[in-house]
Amino acid sequence: MRRVTLLGATGSVGSSAVEVLQEGRERFAVHAVTANSDAAALAGIARRLRAERAVVADPAALAALRDALAGTGIEAAAGASAMQEAAGERVDVVLSAIVGAAGLAPTAAAVRAGSTIALANKECLVCAGPAFMALARRHGARILPVDSEHNALFQLIEGRDADEVSRFTITASGGPFRTWSAERLRRATPEEALAHPTWSMGPKISIDSATMMNKGLELIEAHHLFGLSPDRLDVLVHPQSIVHGLITFRDGSVHAEIGLADMKRPVSYCLNWPARGGCAARHLDLAAIGALTFERPDEARFPALALARSAMVHGSGAPTVLNAANELAVSAFLARRIPFTAIPETVARSLTEADRAGLLTEPETVEEAIGLDAAARDLAAQAVDNLAAIAS
Ligand code: NAD
Ligand code: MG
Repeated sequence: MRRVTLLGATGSVGSSAVEVLQEGRERFAVHAVTANSDAAALAGIARRLRAERAVVADPAALAALRDALAGTGIEAAAGASAMQEAAGERVDVVLSAIVGAAGLAPTAAAVRAGSTIALANKECLVCAGPAFMALARRHGARILPVDSEHNALFQLIEGRDADEVSRFTITASGGPFRTWSAERLRRATPEEALAHPTWSMGPKISIDSATMMNKGLELIEAHHLFGLSPDRLDVLVHPQSIVHGLITFRDGSVHAEIGLADMKRPVSYCLNWPARGGCAARHLDLAAIGALTFERPDEARFPALALARSAMVHGSGAPTVLNAANELAVSAFLARRIPFTAIPETVARSLTEADRAGLLTEPETVEEAIGLDAAARDLAAQAVDNLAAIAS
């Protein structure tokens, strides 16, 4: 039996993982499942997976969680330290599927325990890339990427010498606004931005896909995960989301990983690694798809991509500030406080202010990254207030 902990069990990736774990019930034993505050949903998952423990981040949800688990023998707990403790119990694999920088502390606890990390939470590598990867090396914790593009690159490069590869390419669907004019983008609503054409995902990453910040975060993620210099990383827009990643060998030969857009496949890959499990995800029928198309990203209409790329090249805390400001701006857009195009504007202003305040230095530890994240949120809150005032 492989012991597994599931952080962010009630989310979109979490739900894919619940299906994979249930399908493989004779191979997996679930230690803990966690969520932010939805006690009823979490209790349902804990029962379905026969987990030993269920933890909510929000202490106010503990009573409801206890009630929902009464008589099951499943332990209920709440709060930040209970979350750290559950994540930090050594198991075979911890799936980190919390959204945002909030995932950093629990994922770091799992790394310190030496568990293998199936990492969906890309923000943790953007917020604290060098410190996080150094921590993983120090504790011998293996990081397996769940993010579909990185999972594709991981599968392509496994057993190969990375020096034989000249280019690593991740694909982007282009999101719901791929063909929209700059003028129309200014008036985009949260409903329009949440309607992703090919993937069904949580709200934050859906907005990131619409701005293309998601692909920028993924460039930074790949940079740290695989230790690749920025000039070897590329983004290709591919609206059908069938090709997820490509590597170009020195001799010009290109290998790609392809499959239908379904997170159950990369989740299953990471939970079963290095073996291959079966997976309930539908298999690809290329004849039914017909045509695959590709185009270059348009960084004039989608400035988030260029912002992320330059934060990656700059390093020294710039990605931490970029990520924090983006999280705040996405929330403000979803709350209808700022227009869609003010999201990258908030990020750009926060980076300028952080530089002016002398904040752009490389966080040496995960704790320092969490500190810089908090400082960047203060700057971003100011930028959001200013942009909200202009918009109203
Ligand atoms: P989601 O919003 O659907 O779910 C997030 C989960 O995190 C929920 O279980 C929620 O309860 C929990 N959570 C939120 N805030 C928390 C907090 N402060 N403390 C503890 N738990 C908290 O998000 P998602 O779409 O499943 O994405 C999760 C992560 O995976 C993100 O980092 C995203 O970028 C990445 N990812 C998602 C997809 C996808 O298809 N959804 C694909 C690739 C990568
Ligand atoms: Mg992705």
